[in-house]
Amino acid sequence: MSDCLFCKILKAEIPSEKVYENDVVYGFKDIQPLAKEHYLFIHKSHTKNINDLATQAPHQLTDVFTAISDFTRTNNLEEDGFRVVTNVNSNGGQTVFHTHFHVLGGEALKGFGA
Ligand code: 5GP
Ligand code: ZN
Repeated sequence: MSDCLFCKILKAEIPSEKVYENDVVYGFKDIQPLAKEHYLFIHKSHTKNINDLATQAPHQLTDVFTAISDFTRTNNLEEDGFRVVTNVNSNGGQTVFHTHFHVLGGEALKGFGA
């Protein structure tokens, strides 16, 4: 989508710090990290959020979570642990409307009962 920030990142029209890439998934550092390590994983094919993705292209979930699994296993995040978050619409705090998964780690994370 031409007016989508993350599609622009995929086209390198906006710079990003890549941490992972395969044919269908791109991972990069969040510009405003909320943890010592904070990455965003996106599918290269645009959907708006996980509900649109589930309707339009559910196989993308496998693509993205396989990439997150590969990345966290090979970057020392798996053993100490990490968190995956996806926000939907305004109450969820979604500000960029290209489905994305926050991968947070590098320290003990608070919230969710911690
Ligand atoms: P959301 O609030 O939609 O769940 O997450 C959007 C995320 O994108 C935020 O954590 C925000 O810091 C990040 N973000 C916004 N603009 C940019 C950008 O230009 N580059 C990068 N790397 N991250 C961005
Ligand atoms: Zn997009």
